Amino acid sequence: MSLRQKLALGFGGILVVIAVIGVHNISRITSLGQSIDVILRENYRSVVACQEMKEALDRMDSGAVFVLLGADEKGNEQIAKHDVMFEKALQIEVNNITLPLERGQVERLTHLFQQYRSSIKTMGNPAIGREARRRTYFSELQPLFQQIKETADDIQRMNQENMVAMDQKARRQAEVGQRQMYIMLLAATALSAAFLYLTGGWILRPITRLIRSAEEIRQGNLDLVVQNTSRDEIGQLSEAFNAMAASLREFRRTDQAKLLRVQRATQQALNSLPDVIAVLDPDGVIEVSTEAAREVFGLKPATWLQDLPYPWMTDLFEQALRGGHQTGPRETSGVVQHFVRGEELFFHPEAIPIMDSDKQTAGAVLVLSDVTRQRHQDELKGSVISTVSHQLKTPLTSVRMALHLLLEEKVGPLTEKQAELLVSAREEAERLDRILGELLDIGRIESGKAPMELRPVPPPEMVSEAVEPYRNAARDGGVSLTVALPDALPRVWVDPTQIAHVFANLLSNALKYTLPGGTISITAKEEEEFVRFRISDTGVGIPDRYLPRIFEQFFRVPEQGPGTGVGLGLAIVKDIVEAHGGTVGVESREGMGSTFHFSLRRTGRDAVEERKRT
Ligand code: ADP
Repeated sequence: MSLRQKLALGFGGILVVIAVIGVHNISRITSLGQSIDVILRENYRSVVACQEMKEALDRMDSGAVFVLLGADEKGNEQIAKHDVMFEKALQIEVNNITLPLERGQVERLTHLFQQYRSSIKTMGNPAIGREARRRTYFSELQPLFQQIKETADDIQRMNQENMVAMDQKARRQAEVGQRQMYIMLLAATALSAAFLYLTGGWILRPITRLIRSAEEIRQGNLDLVVQNTSRDEIGQLSEAFNAMAASLREFRRTDQAKLLRVQRATQQALNSLPDVIAVLDPDGVIEVSTEAAREVFGLKPATWLQDLPYPWMTDLFEQALRGGHQTGPRETSGVVQHFVRGEELFFHPEAIPIMDSDKQTAGAVLVLSDVTRQRHQDELKGSVISTVSHQLKTPLTSVRMALHLLLEEKVGPLTEKQAELLVSAREEAERLDRILGELLDIGRIESGKAPMELRPVPPPEMVSEAVEPYRNAARDGGVSLTVALPDALPRVWVDPTQIAHVFANLLSNALKYTLPGGTISITAKEEEEFVRFRISDTGVGIPDRYLPRIFEQFFRVPEQGPGTGVGLGLAIVKDIVEAHGGTVGVESREGMGSTFHFSLRRTGRDAVEERKRT
């Protein structure tokens, strides 16, 4: 049965019940009204007719009395007039016999009246003497008069009684009708309730079932099958619903299989990697990790990063999530130390955010590259360099001393040629000495042996002290040197002697590579908890391809030919800035100039306020 048919049946049923009750009641009320009307009308007519007959008889009787008293004319006239009226009323009654006993009485009445009429005619006859008239009146007319009256009374009473009986009957019928009406109403209510219940069962229950199923599917229970018993529209909907759930199940199955495959492949690929790598969800729970990650840091899948004793890892992860870009540690060396079974290891940690298609962070990858070997090599290299430098320094001092003595001709006069050779030998020895000095500096800074005394220094003071020694050289070289620092710069944490080296290296380079007419400008800007200083020149610039290597030790731009340096200056700058907790960088375009910049940690906000007030 279709839904439409079920609805039609439900509501149609109720409609039929209403119609049956309505028709039944209308017909009952009509028939009751009709029967009351007919009975009342007919009986009433008889009662009225009897009443008229009695009145006419009374007047005829008084007409007879007039005749008796000698008023013949008036008496006869009255008799004749009321005879007609009696006759008329009698005819009405004759034609209106409704009761079983009425007919007999009416016939008797007719008969009696005929007798009364013939007697009264005798009364009206003037030929009869007064005495005879009087006798006739009392012996015939009077008894007849009484009998007619009684008969009419009888008929009248009969009809009145019938009216009362009919009234009671109608009352009874109304009561029965009322009772029937109650019963029918009760039955109709029960029937309607039954129809409603059935309709509810047919329509509401399956819909409720469907809603529950939709809810279950929303919660991920795709194995559910909606029970379907009907073939109507709701049944079809249930079938469509089951088909949809089946498709979803299939999708999930293939998706799950694919996901499992990808997960296994990822896990296997990760396992073959020697580095510490862990993939985390946005809440910081580890999803997959390499064997090294599990063994070295305990980064096991389903572990919460915050539960591990590495707060720096959590910081790194949160920074990556927040910033949406790759982050490394802020420590100077960019390396964390970690002991595994008593063995010292070094790692370079990085966190790379994973972005979904909506550019939202869907997690992060933690990569900790093992740099222990590199670190050891660097340490070895550093110690070899510093040992060699140390070892060379003493003989070199002797050589420089000897050259000095020779050039001063303390050991005898020199020819011009000899002096020339010795001067260039002295220059080379000085250069060698400078190189050894720089190498020893680097060694000291990198090994952490150079003691740093950090104190808060206002940038303007620091910059003007650093720039001062170069003003003359700039003027001589035809290069303008400008310093433009913003007003409210906070103080920075520095070791002034070390930072002086940084400025010295950057400024001397800028001067070296800027042609006369050029400009060197020094600016600074606050950046979160740092202040970044920039030294820009309009000099020869550095080709793009060399930019990544510019801060390496012993690196010099080949195109610029041999100069006085050996490529250690920028390496020292980098070491010193990083030892201060800052970073260095360069931007340059060949032929357009270069900008070297570095950042230094600033003091707290209070310090800025304090400085503003003073
Ligand atoms: P050096 O002491 O030999 O100058 P640095 O480490 O100071 O070594 O510099 C490395 C190289 O970087 C230089 O040889 C030069 O080629 C390039 N360089 C440094 N500063 C500048 C600059 N301001 N403009 C152009 N090139 C520069």
